[in-house]
Parts: sequence; structure tokens; C-alpha cells
Amino acid sequence: MTIPLEIKSKLLNMQYRICGSSAVEICSWTKKHLINEGSCYKRKFYGIDTNRCMEMGPDILCCNHNCIYCWRPMEFMSSKESEAMDPQEMILGLIEGRKNLLSGFGGHEKVDKEKFKDAYELFPNHWAISLAGEPLLYDKIDELISILKNNKETRSIFVVTNGQEPKKLKELNEKDLLPVQLYVSVNAPNEKLYKEIARPANSDGWKRLKETLNLLKNLNTRTVLRFTQIKGLNDSENLLEEYAELFEETQSNFIEIKAYMFLGFSRQRLKKENMPFHKNVQAFAEKLNELLPSYEIINEHSPSRIVLFRNKNFKGEQLIFFNDPKYESIDKIDKNWKIYSILKKYRKSRKILDKFKIDSWDLDYLTLKEHSEKVGFDLNSILKEINEFIHENYLINTK
Ligand code: SF4
Repeated sequence: MTIPLEIKSKLLNMQYRICGSSAVEICSWTKKHLINEGSCYKRKFYGIDTNRCMEMGPDILCCNHNCIYCWRPMEFMSSKESEAMDPQEMILGLIEGRKNLLSGFGGHEKVDKEKFKDAYELFPNHWAISLAGEPLLYDKIDELISILKNNKETRSIFVVTNGQEPKKLKELNEKDLLPVQLYVSVNAPNEKLYKEIARPANSDGWKRLKETLNLLKNLNTRTVLRFTQIKGLNDSENLLEEYAELFEETQSNFIEIKAYMFLGFSRQRLKKENMPFHKNVQAFAEKLNELLPSYEIINEHSPSRIVLFRNKNFKGEQLIFFNDPKYESIDKIDKNWKIYSILKKYRKSRKILDKFKIDSWDLDYLTLKEHSEKVGFDLNSILKEINEFIHENYLINTK
């Protein structure tokens, strides 16, 4: 939906940059990351590059939910699908918009020059398709994801859906065009509370959400249930068993319990008291944990007031760079992630070399693969140790 001028000027003042029906914004966490004052929880949980994040929405005025906790200016939105803009044109326009928004940042006294250079000059390698609107209502979402997936610079694509488009999800799955990680927002365990919180445009909204949830365990991608805890509205202890039943039934790979934040336009619909503190999120998660045999709490990020559950049956990598086939070839790993040069920095990484009879970190992915076959070590267990080492030593220290 082409954005009307009156709304466009309001969005430009809100530091969005618009391209047809789509928009980009520089996330507050990207700004913090560029001046080494913290990173977003998705970096901590999944290893994404916060400085190379493109926070965008393909059709930002199109949504078929009216969630009361939404910080976005929902009053501008419509649930009607519209003429879909060309995805290639959109990508190019948003990259220009993002550069325009970043341009002033280069002169910031505290800016990390290397992070800024990568953020400004390199193609965004993390696409957060969740800025505003329902992404699956954008008719060419498959083409958009296809273009991004075929770009060798892309490392991760996250899509957040409200679960109202199960048909579209099936289609994307059949075409193998699902994002690298798919989020489904679930903020109520039953239809009555769902209608109160999501205020769906579709009369069969709950049925559509349930259909989407039933799809997750068979989708060929990483899946996350995103629960936004609204204090005093959807976090009563009486609801815990219903949530546990719903979440266990869904068997997503991850569950994120995240605090509602008293921000933006949501302040016209909710009160400050509805915003939980991190300790409230921890308490809710702990109680839920007792009722979720398939899951375990593995991480948290207090600045974002979020707790992460992982499914015990999840066999994939926690951090999103090793289990991506695109990193099979040598140069991509070294160029994009310079992983081994990072490891060299840490004398402690010597223990991994010794354990797996590796001479030095002067190697690349393929040589490591050949080495593991030669000495009879399981490559994945070597990568797992490298992953954990990087997580414990590198990502934490890049705050
Ligand atoms: S991944 Fe999300 S939280 Fe992290 S920088 Fe991008 S938009 Fe912000």
C-alpha cells in the first residue's frame, strides 16, 4: 500500500525512511552497538550482527491484527492487501534509506569506526522483517526472501508473523523460501483473551493462529514463539497451564518470554504498570518452566527484559552461522566472519586445538572438515566447542 503523504511525513519525522509501501528504521540497539554500549538480545541468543541489521517492513501499513501492546501507529493501518511493490526495487531503496539514517552516526565521538564502516558500507547481513505491518500480507514476500537468500552476504533473515496467514506459510515451506528464523506472536492461551489483546480483523483469527501453530513442527526452518508479557493482563498464574499446553503442543524450537514495553503509540492503550520488570519476566518464566517438560531456560537479556527457552529436542546450532550451508566454502567464512583469526586472539582456545589434535587456527572450514575426517573427530562436536567458546569469549565481550 503506497503510504499517503500525510502519514509519510509523520513517519519521516519518526526517523523512518520510506520506499513505496516499505520502510526502514535504525534500531536503538544498532545505535548502542555502534558506540559499544551494548548489543541486542538476538546477538546474544543467536549471534546476529547488530551493526549490520536491516530493520524493515515490506508493507508497513498492512496488518490484520490491532494488538493493544503495539508501539506502532496502528491507527494508520489497513488489513487490505494491496498492489505489491517490486522487491528488488524495495531492497535497493531501503539500503539507501538506511545509509541516509546512518550517515550522521559516523561523526559520533564514541562510534566504533570498524563497526560503523561495516554497518555503512557492507550489505546488511541480518534482515529483521518485523518493523511494522504483517510481513506475510506482502504478496511478494517469497520473492523478497528468495533475493535475500541468494545474496552471498546475507547471514540471517528473521520474520515475525501474527499467525494469520497459515496458507502463505505452507506455500513458502513448499518453495523452501522460509526465513532463517520464523517468529509467531502468541499472547494469549485461549480465544477470549486473544480477541481482547490482538483485536483481529479476521473473525476466524484464533482458528488461523492455531492452524499456524500446528504447522510449526513440520516447517523447514528455526521456529520461535514470541510471548509478550503484559503485566496484569495476560500473565496471571491461572493461565499458566493453558500456556504450557499450547506451547508443548506447538513444539517450536525456542520460546521467548518478553516484557511489554511502555513505548510509542501503545501508551494510548495501556498503562506504565502493564510493563513488567525483568524480575517479573523471570518469575513468570520460572513458573512456566515447571510445566514445560520439552523445554529448558538457556538464556536471558535483562536490558530487553527477555528470557529464552530452548526445546530439548532442538539439534541445530544455537548461533546462526555454522549451520548455514552457505558457509561451506572457505572464503565466505574467513571473509565474513574471520572466525579463526578471532580464535587466535584467545590463548585459552589452545585447549580446543589440543583436544582435537589441530596444529593452529591457521585454517578454514574445509581444512577443518578434512582434518576431522582424518583424525576421526566428529566435525559438529568441534564446531560446537568453537561455537560455545566464541559465545563465552567473543560475543559477550563485544558489548
Ligand atoms: S535484530 Fe532486532 S533488536 Fe537486533 S538490531 Fe535488529 S531490529 Fe534491533
